[in-house]
Amino acid sequence: MMPRADGAPSAIPGVTSATTDKLAKLGIRTQADLVVHLPLRYEDETQLTPIADLRPGVPAQVEAEIVDSSVQYRPRRQLVVRVRDDSGVLVLRFLNFYGSQVKQLAAGRRLRLFGEPRGGFLGDEMVHPRCRVVEEGEALPEALTPIYPTTAGLSQLALRRLIDLTLKQADLAETLPNTLRKKLRLADFAGSVRLLHHPTPQTAAADLDARVHPAWRRIKFDELLAQQLSLRRAHEARRAKTAPPLPKKGTLTKKFLAALPFTLTTAQQRVWREIAHDLGESHPMQRLLQGDVGSGKTVVAALAMLQAVENGYQAVLMAPTEILAEQHYRKLAQWLAPLGLDIAWLSGSLKKKEKTAMAEAISSGRARLAVGTHALIEEAVTFPKLGLAIIDEQHRFGVRQRLTLREKGVNPHQLMMSATPIPRTLAMSYYADLDVSVIDELPPGRQPVLTKLASEARRDEVIARIRDACAQGRQAYWVCPLIEESEKLQLQTAVDTFERLRTELPRLNVGLVHGRLKGEEKARVMADFAAGKIHLLVATTVIEVGVDVANASLMVIEHAERFGLSQLHQLRGRIGRGADDSVCILLYAHPLGEIARARLKIIFENADGFEIARQDLHLRGPGEFLGRRQSGVPLLRFADLETDADLLEAAREAAELLLKDYPDAADRHVERWLGGRRELMKV
Ligand code: ADP
Ligand code: MG
Repeated sequence: MMPRADGAPSAIPGVTSATTDKLAKLGIRTQADLVVHLPLRYEDETQLTPIADLRPGVPAQVEAEIVDSSVQYRPRRQLVVRVRDDSGVLVLRFLNFYGSQVKQLAAGRRLRLFGEPRGGFLGDEMVHPRCRVVEEGEALPEALTPIYPTTAGLSQLALRRLIDLTLKQADLAETLPNTLRKKLRLADFAGSVRLLHHPTPQTAAADLDARVHPAWRRIKFDELLAQQLSLRRAHEARRAKTAPPLPKKGTLTKKFLAALPFTLTTAQQRVWREIAHDLGESHPMQRLLQGDVGSGKTVVAALAMLQAVENGYQAVLMAPTEILAEQHYRKLAQWLAPLGLDIAWLSGSLKKKEKTAMAEAISSGRARLAVGTHALIEEAVTFPKLGLAIIDEQHRFGVRQRLTLREKGVNPHQLMMSATPIPRTLAMSYYADLDVSVIDELPPGRQPVLTKLASEARRDEVIARIRDACAQGRQAYWVCPLIEESEKLQLQTAVDTFERLRTELPRLNVGLVHGRLKGEEKARVMADFAAGKIHLLVATTVIEVGVDVANASLMVIEHAERFGLSQLHQLRGRIGRGADDSVCILLYAHPLGEIARARLKIIFENADGFEIARQDLHLRGPGEFLGRRQSGVPLLRFADLETDADLLEAAREAAELLLKDYPDAADRHVERWLGGRRELMKV
């Protein structure tokens, strides 16, 4: 092994430390990583094309003799080489070149070059073709040439040589039991990687490009299997930890249910049973509660908190925004008052003295229940008997924040709630270490929301509509355009919109709420809106999550084309909660980009959050969908959750089998695929 500059040995034999660093940039740390560093595409260098037969835009390989070469300075410095074969002359242009290259490309030499011809002023030319000096009669390769993902300073040739060498040295042994491989009709591993690095002349290029060749399927399966195995292991590791068992006692939960002004839906009852059961176990629950906007997750959270309290433990509920946290607080306070339970409220906007008092109530153990924003996870607050931590809208929190909260208790049970439904394939892959409960039913009496698309040119009609609706005693939201780049601009836009609507609708009481309002002011505006004193509430996306005013039945979203799909869905979910017909008007401005148009179409055509999420995933791909915040799970490089859903299903079953009957094979498999990437998997 070559010693590295920093003293750490390279896991790849025979490479310099400079190369080791470049490989690391590509995510390659071990020989096994190199083995599955697979080509992006292939180039056909098995044939030569006469210069006269070149067609613009069609990549081709040519063998020709250098006529002359010169460095020219117009329009900019470049190396221009003219080459000739029996059929014609071709011009090569190099904009970046080294002195050594100029020497190498001397008249009379024979070049084999590969590039994309284009019609130039003086006939055919190629810009930056790949080229190599050859002897006359040198044999052509028999297989397609792999083109690898690479990084600056690491040439295709160098990478290819390194991979070829590695293929000879590395352990390519099969990790799948034969019976399983036969049953799933999977190609063997060694054969598959060899073929993908060096397709035989008979391999259909189209199958390779579309990644449907059996060799590709095997690789994708292996990748998915590694992911499933590691997630399963994480799941098992969690089960090996201990948490305080908080079994169902019913002393508080029964009273609570009896006092509740409604009965739980069947779906709520089911998820509540699942959670109640988990809480009774002596290992930490880690459950994701999914339910579309308005499906009634809060009441389930309240039940879970009460079960912790019944057992003498503390429970905490954390929400991503002050508005949402405060609503939870009010709702819980109202629900729990009949039980004589106090709730500690903690948010960043509390006065120092109040904050200290609340933190003290929690730290002393007097406060059994706490609700708040991330202020809850600040250092000063300690929970001596934390049994349950609930995180609402979990996707809004970073991984680190979630961990910090968990660390407040020894290993508290954890419930995460989300209204951004995670499509099944994603849930099966990236969230496979969580248990999932789904509320798939809305409380009775919900009205479907009618969604309308209107170009900005029709703004006046929309204003008139608000005037009419409010005259009939209804209330409305006006969501300001999203300006992601600048919080300051966002704020300014909200204020401008508010002023403008106030002049346009002089008879209405118009309110404004945005993220920069002080806590008390925000609370006052929301309370006035809830009480019907404000007719039209101008808001930024602060109302996106959890705000709940049943009488509001009209929503206008300005510049809807700037919002993401889940944002639009969440926003729209703020209405349709009362008896009135609800309408959501999406105002858009021209020109509409292709993606924006697709998004508006999806939100217009779909009401079901799961379907919207599925289409969103299709539109954006999983990396974007999950967001950077969710990283911490191995991302997939080869498999596609949508087109390879069958492989994912198979990998999931295989993971179970391997862990049960072939633990050694499972170890080797994970080592091969994730050995060099361990640090990504700490979360
Ligand atoms: P979300 O799942 O979006 O967080 P909430 O918990 O805020 O939804 O519930 C939305 C509204 O529905 C609240 O006003 C809540 O009190 C009400 N609600 C919840 N469950 C029921 C039910 N079973 N029957 C009637 N109303 C319910
Ligand atoms: Mg909610």
